[in-house]
Parts: sequence; C-alpha cells; structure tokens
Amino acid sequence: MINGEAVSSSQHFEVRNPASGDLLGHAPVATKEQVDAAVAAAKAAQASWAAKSDEERKSILMQVSKVLEENSEYLAKWITEEQGKPMAGPGSMFEMQACVGWTQVPASLDLPVEVVFEDETRRDEMHRKPIGVIGAIAPWNWPLMIAIWQIVPALRAGNTVVLKPSEYTTLGTLEMIRLMNTVLPAGVLNSVSGDGKVGAYLVENKEVDKIMFTGSESTARKIIKASEGNMARLTLECGGNDPAIILPGTDIQSKAGDLFWGSFINMGQTCACAKRLYVHEDDYDQVVGALDAVAGQMPMGNGMEEGIVLGPVQNKMQYDKVSELVEDAKAQGASVIRGGSPMEGPGYFYPITLIGNVDNGTRIVDEEQFGPVLPIIKYKTVEEAIEKANDTRTGLGGSVWGDDLSEAAKVASRIESGTVWINQHGAIHPMVPFGGVKDSGYGVEFGVEGLKGVTQPQVISIKKAVAGEA
Ligand code: NAD
Repeated sequence: MINGEAVSSSQHFEVRNPASGDLLGHAPVATKEQVDAAVAAAKAAQASWAAKSDEERKSILMQVSKVLEENSEYLAKWITEEQGKPMAGPGSMFEMQACVGWTQVPASLDLPVEVVFEDETRRDEMHRKPIGVIGAIAPWNWPLMIAIWQIVPALRAGNTVVLKPSEYTTLGTLEMIRLMNTVLPAGVLNSVSGDGKVGAYLVENKEVDKIMFTGSESTARKIIKASEGNMARLTLECGGNDPAIILPGTDIQSKAGDLFWGSFINMGQTCACAKRLYVHEDDYDQVVGALDAVAGQMPMGNGMEEGIVLGPVQNKMQYDKVSELVEDAKAQGASVIRGGSPMEGPGYFYPITLIGNVDNGTRIVDEEQFGPVLPIIKYKTVEEAIEKANDTRTGLGGSVWGDDLSEAAKVASRIESGTVWINQHGAIHPMVPFGGVKDSGYGVEFGVEGLKGVTQPQVISIKKAVAGEA
C-alpha cells in the first residue's frame, strides 16, 4: 500500500497455515524502489497530516478504530489462519479487541504544552512535535496488535508511517493496513512486505526519522548500526526471558490459571511471557501439580475449530528452536513433567511442556525459548531466587507471586526488568508504559510516555518585557 494505492510486485512468497500446512496465498516482496516510494509518499503526506488539528487527527483515528471493530472477525480469521492462535480464548478475537483498544486510547491522549520554567524575566515552554516519517518493523507473534502499537501513537502525534510486517504473518497485516487506508488520507500509512532485506531497505532510508521495532535482539543490533546513517531515533523491543518467582507458602490454587496464561498465552510466543519459574523447594510439588492440572484442561488444535484455546507454534524456525532446547535440557538430565516431544503432523504442534530438575546454566533456562515450554526451578531462599532471576542480559518483564502484597512488592523492586507484575504476568494496558531494560531494548510504548516517544521536544523560550525596558 503506497500513497493509498494497492501496488503489485513482480516477486511473491508463499504463505502457509501453521496448523495444516495449507497454502493461504502469496505475499508481495517489495523492491528497494518500492520501499523508497513508500517512504517518499509518507514524507510528502506528513506536513499536511501534522497540520491537521489534534481534534481532526483524533476523530480520524476513532474512525480507524471503528473500521477495525467492524472487521474484527474478518481480520481475526486471517490471524488464526496465518499466525495460528485460535479464534477463542486469549486468541485472535482477543488480539482484535486489543487492536481496537490500543487505537482508541492513544487517539484520545493529549500532550499539552508544559511550562518548564517561568520567572519575571522569561517563560520556557516545552512543545511536542512529530518526528517525521516512522518506519515500523513488526514481528509475527501478535502481528496486528504490535503493528497497531507502532502505528497509532505515531499517527496521533502527527507522524506518517511505513510498516513492514513480518514475513511469517504478512497477509492479515496487509489486509488491516488496506482497511485502515479506507479512512486515512493517502500516504499517511503505507506498507511494504518481504523479509529482512526489505526491512533493511526501510531502516537504511535517509528520509526515515524514527524506527519502531519489535523482534529479535540480533535484528535490533543491525537496526542500531543502520541508524548511524540516518540518525533515526529508535524504540527497540527485543523480547526477554522473564522470570516469575513464587514466594514461599503462596496459595497457588487461586493463582494457577493466571500463572498458566502468563506463561503460555499464544503458546509462549509472547515477548513478556513468564519463561522461567522459580519455586521454593517445599512448594514445588504443589505448584507443579496445579500447573499440570490447568494444562490438562486446555484443548489444542486448529484454532478455527470451536473450543480450541491453544494452536500450533507459528513457524518451523521457532518449532525447531523449541524442540532443540527441550532435547538439550533432557540430555542435561532435566525431567519432563508434561509434554516434551513434538506432536504428529500436519502443523507445527508442540504440547504444553513443563520441565523440572533444571537450573540456571541450562539453555532452556538461560535462552528465550519463545514457545510452549516452562522450566521450573527450585530455590532454597528468596535471595537465591532473586539472584537467579536477575542472572540474565534480558530485562523486559518479570513477576512475583505471593499472598503478602507488601512482601511481594519488596521482591518486585529488586527484579531487573522494565515491568514487574505482582500476581499476574504480561498484564499490559494501553495507558501503562511498557519497555525493556538491558538487552531487551530501549524506549517505552503505551500511554503518555509512549506518545512522547514518537515526538521530539521543542523548547520555545520567551524573554519577558521587564518594566522600565524600552
Ligand atoms: P526477527 O528479528 O528476524 O524479525 C522481526 C522483524 O524484523 C521482521 O519483520 C523481519 O523481517 C525484520 N528484519 C529482519 N532483519 C532485518 C533487518 N536487517 N533490518 C530491518 N528489519 C529486519 O525475528 P524473527 O526471526 O521473526 O524471530 C527470531 C526470534 O526473535 C524468535 O525466536 C524470538 O525469540 C524473538 N522474537 C521476539 C518477538 C517479540 O515480541 N519481542 C517477536 C518475534 C520474535
């Protein structure tokens, strides 16, 4: 979608359903010239988009949210068929609800002028201006929702956007962009599809002023290097290896359902999922039993079928990575409490897997599995749990589970991550800033802070007329 027009390409790639292997269609591969044309269209449209009043931009974005709402089921089917998450449960209809919410909330926010200093001689005001053209690079796990996180605040602030969806989840995202374009002025929101090479054309373009990226740490590092050429501002969300600590003696029965979904939402393919669980040795059997019981109630299959709440792993690369990490853990002496081997095809189905008898130093604990596997690690003291939780270069999320909230808050404050949830995990909200520390990236999304991140400050400094001066 370039300048409001659907554009064809000479090259295409196949898109297949991860639950069945069935061919869904062919997605276009943008050429470098098309990426440059999309950026040029965004640049040409930016001044008039930014010149619209806040009220006009808010009203157009509320129309976008209506389009998303009206097409929720249609787009959710694309998500299920292409990404794999089921229509039901915390699946694709849930993703579409989030798309609507994450459109309406930033659309309603304001960044009023701040008076940062004032005395009898001067008044200094901080204004928030758009940055210009934003390149948005989206991943495949929550393809439409994360694209919306990148697009809508950028547009609200008066920027224009070129989005590149993941090569694993292109068609549903392109459909969403097409529908959004039915109410947005031409050139304000453009899309280019293809693999990392197409992403590289976008991040290297000299007219791109900011990149919003969610994906792997290795790609984030390439984007940092590319930004040397265009000084693009960066918001980087590179996932994490979130720890969850259950404090000794915690009533687990009342929390097991939340803990399960905190670990296994979207088959664990979520940046802020609980990916390592630390449990006091005296509580271990009870926690394992409670999680195992919840897992046993969750039907897995083709997400278009009724009653299914867990789908396949999205792609072969991730499926192989999950299998490899589990095999490695088994070879290191880990015990498989549940699951632990790939399921019969077709589709990339891998069972919910609970792994015991593991510790930091094993790959399944140290690396981000990004799949339906949870290692459960015993600890003797809370100090030991905190130390092991922080023994990582990632720092997106974390959680502490306990019945004494003030005790849990004390432990939470010592976890090195951008968010620490208490008695929940991954409970993001469109008003609450979200971002990582350490190698999980920098910059925050959501809420007023997220909106500031797609603006640049401008100070207007006014000398006051002093009595007696000419
Ligand atoms: P990736 O980083 O390769 O891809 C993410 C996006 O970046 C895609 O749109 C891709 O085309 C694009 N891209 C790739 N190379 C690029 C480049 N040089 N310049 C610009 N854009 C480029 O991630 P992946 O291969 O989809 O997944 C790899 C791993 O990343 C997963 O195993 C998982 O651990 C992690 N991951 C994290 C998230 C998250 O939400 N944080 C999402 C998806 C994957």
